[in-house]
Amino acid sequence: MDTVKGFVNETFKDKEPWKIVAITTGSVLSAVWLWNFLDQDESVVERGKKKIFQLLRRLPLVRDKIKNELDGMKCTFERESLKRVKDIDFVTKLPLNGLTHEEILDAVKRLIKLGEFDWQHGRVSGAVYRHDEKLIKLMSDVYGIASYTNPLHPDIFPGVCKMEAEVVRISCRLFHGDEASCGTMTTGGTESILLACKAYRDYAKAVKGITRPEMVVPSTAHSAFDKAAQYLKIRVRTVPINPNSFTVKINDMERAINKNTIMLVGSTPNFPYGTFDNIEAISELGVKYNIPVHVDACLGGFLLCFMPDAGFSVPTFDFKLPGVTSISADTHKYGYSPKGSSVILYRNTEYRHYQFTITTDWPGGIYGSPTVNGSRTGGIIAACWASLMSFGYNGYLESTKKIIETTRYIENELRKIDGIFILGTPATSVIALGSHQFHIYRLSEALITKGWNLNVLQFPSAIHLCVTHVHTQSGIADEFLQDVRDILIEIKKHPEDPVEGMFAMYGMSQTIADRAVVEDLTRCFIDSMYFTPLKEIEEEMN
Ligand SMILES: *Cc1c(COP(=O)(O)O)cnc(C)c1O
Repeated sequence: MDTVKGFVNETFKDKEPWKIVAITTGSVLSAVWLWNFLDQDESVVERGKKKIFQLLRRLPLVRDKIKNELDGMKCTFERESLKRVKDIDFVTKLPLNGLTHEEILDAVKRLIKLGEFDWQHGRVSGAVYRHDEKLIKLMSDVYGIASYTNPLHPDIFPGVCKMEAEVVRISCRLFHGDEASCGTMTTGGTESILLACKAYRDYAKAVKGITRPEMVVPSTAHSAFDKAAQYLKIRVRTVPINPNSFTVKINDMERAINKNTIMLVGSTPNFPYGTFDNIEAISELGVKYNIPVHVDACLGGFLLCFMPDAGFSVPTFDFKLPGVTSISADTHKYGYSPKGSSVILYRNTEYRHYQFTITTDWPGGIYGSPTVNGSRTGGIIAACWASLMSFGYNGYLESTKKIIETTRYIENELRKIDGIFILGTPATSVIALGSHQFHIYRLSEALITKGWNLNVLQFPSAIHLCVTHVHTQSGIADEFLQDVRDILIEIKKHPEDPVEGMFAMYGMSQTIADRAVVEDLTRCFIDSMYFTPLKEIEEEMN
């Protein structure tokens, strides 16, 4: 203490008081600035890169070039979106008098038939998990009865709340939760994930005093985690995957943990490769460091529950593991309910309490709501409940058996085909394909001409097929395999040919170092989904 005092006194002995004040203030402010500069969501290198690109984009030459390219892409996207609706005129204002029941039904039927892909008969990957006239009839009857109800008013619609509670309890049981386990229904996997992140952020703040929250997430985890992070101001620490197994590297995950970590994430399976993270190891990390673990079973959940009894082994991943504190599972995927339902489940009510939003002082009353939405339709809840009741345990068991058998069959046959390989080991129903001999997007491109719509992956370029109940219809798997074999014969005649069209753009976008340009392109694309030609409005104005 004395030496420090002596040193400071010696250093400042000839300085005037105002200088001492200035130096002190200046160095404190600099230290604060440096701390803030270094302690941000992105590394200094990342931010430096972005800054350079930002400056480059301000150069007139670069700016004009990018603007021209984007305008060009905007037109392309708009033309494509017009082509998709076969140039049917857009309705851009209310009809003066309402249409009749028949007119509306006819119009909707026509609109639903517009797409090029035969999704009812398994020509698309994922997207449609089941297509069955009897199920559709049941769902629309049930939805109809409950469509104008709202669980926001439990006193008015107690039966809707009962159905929601039952969907949650049934799901908890399927994932081996005990009496303390609980959850809520949500509108989909994205909301389930968003709410888990919100719960853990608020839990960490209240219980551990964490004010700069971070989540540790495998690079393959669904982009809903990034979305949640953006909405909720949580920093994402992305953990790389093992290049052979395509599952998260556990050692790297442990290294990414720090005092600000609010949650760890694993997927069962992940969307891109359909591979299964080592949840047992992630659960152990959660226990060791006392950090909640979220298991994203959005995609796999309602298959995994039935796989053991269907004769397929599954690693332990659910509430049986002591570290797993929450699970998201989509009833609107392999639960076969219409889109708009999912469940978020917690080990106990303490975590769930942090999911809720409560305002006590609003003039409109004390307002507590469990999920993102205020008003919701009871129709979706009733439909989801109805699908669980309609299939029952054995119904799901039988569907799961068919789907996993079909996936394993397709996987085995694909492995026999020379020129392509499978990324990792498909755990449930997703098979990702790559090639060392040609650009794999060419396979996707050629499959489209034969009516198949697969998912496109990047870093590395790959494609995947997500097998659903529609693919278990007789002959579909073999038709797919035969088309792949035929296409490969053609491609291998000229393996080095480039990719064309939209796929070329997708391939090229991976090489653009300035990701902000890719972001702009994506914004243009989303804009184009809302594009309505202005023809009519212009006519009226003239
Ligand atoms: C589908 C999916 C989600 C997100 O679900 P949405 O229902 O599309 O919001 C999350 N994780 C995985 C692994 C998924 O496949």
